[in-house]
Amino acid sequence: MVIGLILGFTVGESAERWLGWMGDIFVRLLRMVIAPLIFTSIITGVASVGAGQDLGRLGLKTFGFYMLSSLLAIMVGLALVNVIQPGAGADLAGAASSDLPEIQTPGSLGEIFIRLVPTNPVQALASGDMLGIIFFSILLGVAIPRVKHERAEDLLGLIQAAFEVIMSITSGIIRLAPLGVLGLIVRAINRSGVDALETLGMYMLTIFLGLMIHLLVTLPALLAFLGRMNPWIHFRNMSEPMLLAFSTSSSSATLPVTLRAVEKKVGVSNRVSSFVLPMGATVNMDGTALYECVGVIFISQVMGFELTFAAQITVVLTALLASIGAAGIPSAGLVMIFIVTEAVGLTGPEVAAIVGTMFAIDRPLDMLRTVVNVFSDSCGAAIIARSEGEDTVNARVVS
Ligand code: ASP
Repeated sequence: MVIGLILGFTVGESAERWLGWMGDIFVRLLRMVIAPLIFTSIITGVASVGAGQDLGRLGLKTFGFYMLSSLLAIMVGLALVNVIQPGAGADLAGAASSDLPEIQTPGSLGEIFIRLVPTNPVQALASGDMLGIIFFSILLGVAIPRVKHERAEDLLGLIQAAFEVIMSITSGIIRLAPLGVLGLIVRAINRSGVDALETLGMYMLTIFLGLMIHLLVTLPALLAFLGRMNPWIHFRNMSEPMLLAFSTSSSSATLPVTLRAVEKKVGVSNRVSSFVLPMGATVNMDGTALYECVGVIFISQVMGFELTFAAQITVVLTALLASIGAAGIPSAGLVMIFIVTEAVGLTGPEVAAIVGTMFAIDRPLDMLRTVVNVFSDSCGAAIIARSEGEDTVNARVVS
């Protein structure tokens, strides 16, 4: 990474292009395995959980951890943005604004639930609709072991074998990580808007501090107290996915590597990881939740719009909702911010202009919040695995 940082400032245009291609190929390879990996891994995992009570218990624990960690992250952001007040007196006139990427934003929690159910599972697989794939795979994982057909076991065995095959392809792709990461980081540095960096310094600092507190204090505390684990061991075991989250800015693209590290290094069973992680990559985004909260209050401060206590509570709840609805792809969190601004009545061209300015410097923040998002998913998997009696989780650092 250090080499990437140095090169980012020094390479010429054609070298940058080559490095960029390398990064692109690497991300495409990762994305290539996402759909088959989630599909086979969830079916194998859910089939081994068994239906009924066990599945319900795992579901409740997963949901409980996601809510807890995201709300804690939002609270950290809320406290910091109120203390630091990065938007008060900020002059955004000099900062470059850019076109926002087109990302679909769900309008409400109901819509997110509705989107869970794919009308056509084959299309969901083909188009990489994560929530749809997750839903259909869970149903298959529950149904296959219950079917009393003599070939049902073969079907499950086949899917398990397919899972192992995709995992081994993933391991091969990971060997290319140093090159891919280098390419991605060089390009990210070359593309960040340096002018805007200065103007939005306090805003970036607030988010940076919040993300660091959540990453280095809150989540390790949860690991230690809820999971009775040594957080340092968990950090070491998760270094690969964290670096990848940083360089791709995408929880989804990182998912294959997260799954592999959580199973092979942290030592979580496929039964737990395949349930907790794919869902986490789309639904549990602590970094994004914190970002939404700070971002919206920053906008209100820039506009000189005082948010009442009730409005701040609305920000907390809608920030949570926006983080659940955000896809695990670059800049998704920034676009989702409109859900939160609308909820507290911040509308109009001025809001769009400020968000445009925030987009100019979004990349470094996106890289960091994606690290936090991925790390939080892995903490959830480890803590839940421990609570299910998996005592060897994070017993040691696996290199
Ligand atoms: N890029 C983030 C992720 O994939 C989402 C965001 O933009 O906050 O986790």
